Amino acid sequence: MATDEQADAAAPIGPLDGAVIPRYAGLPTFARLPRREDVPRFDVAVLGVPFDSGVSYRPGARFGPAHIRQSSRLLRPYNPALEVSPFGVQQVVDAGDLAVNPFDIGQAIGQIEAGARELSAQAKLLVLGGDHTIALPVLRAMHAMHGEIAVLHFDAHLDTWDTYFGEPYTHGTPFRRASEEGLLDREHCLHIGIRGPLYNPADLTDSFDLGFATVHCVELETLGVAGVIERMRARLGDRPVYVSVDIDVLDPAYAPGTGTPEAGGMTSRELLAVLRGLMGANIVSADIVEVSPAYDHAEITGIAAAHVGFELLSVLALSPRAGDPAVLDAVPELAVEVATVVPDVTAGRVER
Ligand code: MN
Ligand code: MN
Repeated sequence: MATDEQADAAAPIGPLDGAVIPRYAGLPTFARLPRREDVPRFDVAVLGVPFDSGVSYRPGARFGPAHIRQSSRLLRPYNPALEVSPFGVQQVVDAGDLAVNPFDIGQAIGQIEAGARELSAQAKLLVLGGDHTIALPVLRAMHAMHGEIAVLHFDAHLDTWDTYFGEPYTHGTPFRRASEEGLLDREHCLHIGIRGPLYNPADLTDSFDLGFATVHCVELETLGVAGVIERMRARLGDRPVYVSVDIDVLDPAYAPGTGTPEAGGMTSRELLAVLRGLMGANIVSADIVEVSPAYDHAEITGIAAAHVGFELLSVLALSPRAGDPAVLDAVPELAVEVATVVPDVTAGRVER
């Protein structure tokens, strides 16, 4: 049996205490978590991938990881909606940034895949992009570990197009490439938040043929958050899920700092609630991409991305561990309940 001292030594090291070191002071790791080098082992690694050479419109997502980290300083350690301390029940670290070639997309994809493979052998990943090109090499690493992956993709855009200017590896094509490479579980992938003009009607049927069902953004009006969660959980089942959040799934009012904004998007409140509905799902890793700080104002987009990261870390904390029994049967209903619950603020002070 472990002594109390040993148990303490094994307890995760959390963020810096905001009452001791002001939140605006010090180096900006994600949520002011320890760096990879600071702990002997870790369960989840936040990994920056500053790469935006795959964009088709506004550039600048290479500065996304640094911006999200800066905007994450105010995150506190307890999640009252999910009743979990995501930094307390798992060791989360900031693993810094991958150094990738900005001039050679093929080489960059190889570097990202190698970095994701190395790190995912030790931990689950929360990847901070970068443009959406980076999801392909991360999915290759996920497939190597888990087999076919159910991708849960939040985005205004399908990202299942074939080529741009004849180029196959861009931020609009990662999920077509992933499907072609056999990385996806084609019965269980889902887009949420799709909206805006397409090139032609075949874009949607192509996307379905590549493995993706779709919850269109406008369906939030009729389904509501709880209905979207039900459809999401039904589609994902108990498969290994990779969650990819393109921040442009949010309306430009909630995320102006992005490369290809589309009107009519989700509110940040809706997105965070739907993410909470993943509680208990078998999430293997996740990303947040397309934050382009040059177009941001007052950290609006950065703060949204930081909170998306916090919810993703929370549902990772509530995912079944490797070797654990299968996902609870009751979880989809429970997830809907939890996503729509209002925390009881009279139950006691949570944290400063
Ligand atoms: Mn997009
Ligand atoms: Mn995208």
